[in-house]
Amino acid sequence: MSSKHGNLSINSDNIFPIIKKWLYSDHDIFYRELISNGCDAITKLKKLDMMGEYSLPEDYKPKIQVLVNPEEKTLKFIDNGLGMTADEVEEYINQIAFSGASDFLEKYKDKANEDQIIGHFGLGFYSAFMVADEVHIDSLSYKDGAEAVHWECDGGTEFDMSDGSKETVGTEITLFLNEDCLEFANEYRAREVITKYCSFMPTEIYLAKENAAPEYETIPSDEVKETDTVVETIIEEAKTEEKENENGEKEVVEVSPRQEKTKIIKRPVPLNDIHPLWTKHPNECTDEEYKTFYRNVFHDYKEPLFWIHLNMDYPFNLKGILYFPKINTEYDSIEGTIKLYNNQVFIADNIKEVIPEFLMLLKGVIDCPDLPLNVSRSALQNDGFVKKISDYITKKVADKLTGMCKTDKENYEKYWDDISPFIKFGCLKDEKFCDKMNDSILFKNLDDKYLTLPEILKAKEEANDHTSDADAADTDTAENPEEQKDNRETIYYVTDPAQQGQYIKMFKEQGMDAVILNHNIDTSFISQLEQRNQNYKFMRIDADVTDALKEDVSEEELKDALDSLTATFKKALNKENLEVKVEKLKDTSIASVITVSEESRRMQDMMKMYNMYGMD
Ligand code: ADP
Ligand code: MG
Repeated sequence: MSSKHGNLSINSDNIFPIIKKWLYSDHDIFYRELISNGCDAITKLKKLDMMGEYSLPEDYKPKIQVLVNPEEKTLKFIDNGLGMTADEVEEYINQIAFSGASDFLEKYKDKANEDQIIGHFGLGFYSAFMVADEVHIDSLSYKDGAEAVHWECDGGTEFDMSDGSKETVGTEITLFLNEDCLEFANEYRAREVITKYCSFMPTEIYLAKENAAPEYETIPSDEVKETDTVVETIIEEAKTEEKENENGEKEVVEVSPRQEKTKIIKRPVPLNDIHPLWTKHPNECTDEEYKTFYRNVFHDYKEPLFWIHLNMDYPFNLKGILYFPKINTEYDSIEGTIKLYNNQVFIADNIKEVIPEFLMLLKGVIDCPDLPLNVSRSALQNDGFVKKISDYITKKVADKLTGMCKTDKENYEKYWDDISPFIKFGCLKDEKFCDKMNDSILFKNLDDKYLTLPEILKAKEEANDHTSDADAADTDTAENPEEQKDNRETIYYVTDPAQQGQYIKMFKEQGMDAVILNHNIDTSFISQLEQRNQNYKFMRIDADVTDALKEDVSEEELKDALDSLTATFKKALNKENLEVKVEKLKDTSIASVITVSEESRRMQDMMKMYNMYGMD
């Protein structure tokens, strides 16, 4: 091929400057784009081999090499994928927004069903110009008789193409970094970015400093592998010492045995795990693997409580692992991270269009190759498909929890205190989740037993059956909606067992029960439950003296007490328009209690909580 100079043809309007500046908000993303192109090129070559259109060499080891060169201010991405001919460079590189990936898929869509191709838009390559003043491509196609091609472009709309010198099949992309972006040639920075985006890409990625002297390591000779490059073998003779034995005689003892060691060129280790745990079948994963994966990905050294492994192909492809983290104290922030992947390529953390907000309190990974991986997030927002994914994830989480409540109650109870804020928050945020979880929400009662709502209501019903005579009088005013409210079952609750101790004592003496609700989310949560269920209401144990605790006495009898207490409280609280109500308690060991109105107190609690969390 003779050399060629030409203009890049831009498929849509003049989008080149836009790509350079605004396509991606994070500049470091070019790493992901160039590495994923290398991955695609390798996937394609393997596919061609599978389909008999090409035959891979015996010792083929697919890999992507990233070479940083801070002195030269360059960065290289080298893959041993299928390479490109000059014509293909023309078609896929010179014509911006033409994608070889989509062409490939189109061509082989019937033959290659297990698609793992990442590219879609034909824009990724140009992200290189976000950080580079000049980019070179050197490529040799796998095709019979293909000739190497060299391409270069300085970020304008012109390119140069000429014969290349690449001798092995594959592609090498060289970035001449812009002065402002030299950080990307720093080995540590490179490692950081690759780890961020490429930790689970399906091809091994190696990072090295270009032209760096090789590093060596010395290992026991029996650990040398065939693939190691041996530099020398070192024999350490056994060490001996002269020592005196029990009989006072001198003796030669061996203190360390003879050892054979081998100095080898340090083995390169890939930066990524090409078979992340979520790609395995749940039956093939051990608890230890789940825990290790959690530690490695989230750097959380507290063990997770449990996890949900999502694995489905229908109606869409979705895999992932969601972990319920251990929350140590009520004050621990519960801020999780859900990492989103598309075919093992990291997209972003906590994309709220895909992951329901309350699930972001968990820690997990979701890989969804069907996701319309648009370059802009705003496009995800109104996508019905994305909403379906989000609903599905919610449903799976609810299924797991309700299943656990049914079949593994013991553990469910054990975890309950840790997971309940999360579940309650979920109920507040998502009505469907709330409905699904309704019967699997636990309430701890005064005997430290965990009860579900149906269990609580059943116990109430049974208790009512015994006292139905006493209640009969109340029900004849049911016509009046105000009165109707009072027909709801009342579930009493305690927010502070120490402070409300005397009420608890009183309740117990009367054989009554209450549940403990001491998390600051509880006020909103019970209000939500009441709105969605018409047959019960919640009332704090000190909210009102309940009928069951009251002695039926005439107003006359209480008149003196009322007058004196009203006067006392008016004075103590310095409030003239105070209304005081006095009722007589049944014979208990408690002399008197002061009660607070449920509505006004709950309102105050909710305000406090909204201020704290900025919830809507
Ligand atoms: P996309 O990956 O979305 O198709 P890109 O701009 O990243 O878009 O790449 C455009 C096309 O250039 C690719 O589809 C592919 O055909 C070709 N290409 C890019 N990088 C490589 C590479 N390393 N090896 C082979 N072909 C490549
Ligand atoms: Mg690409």
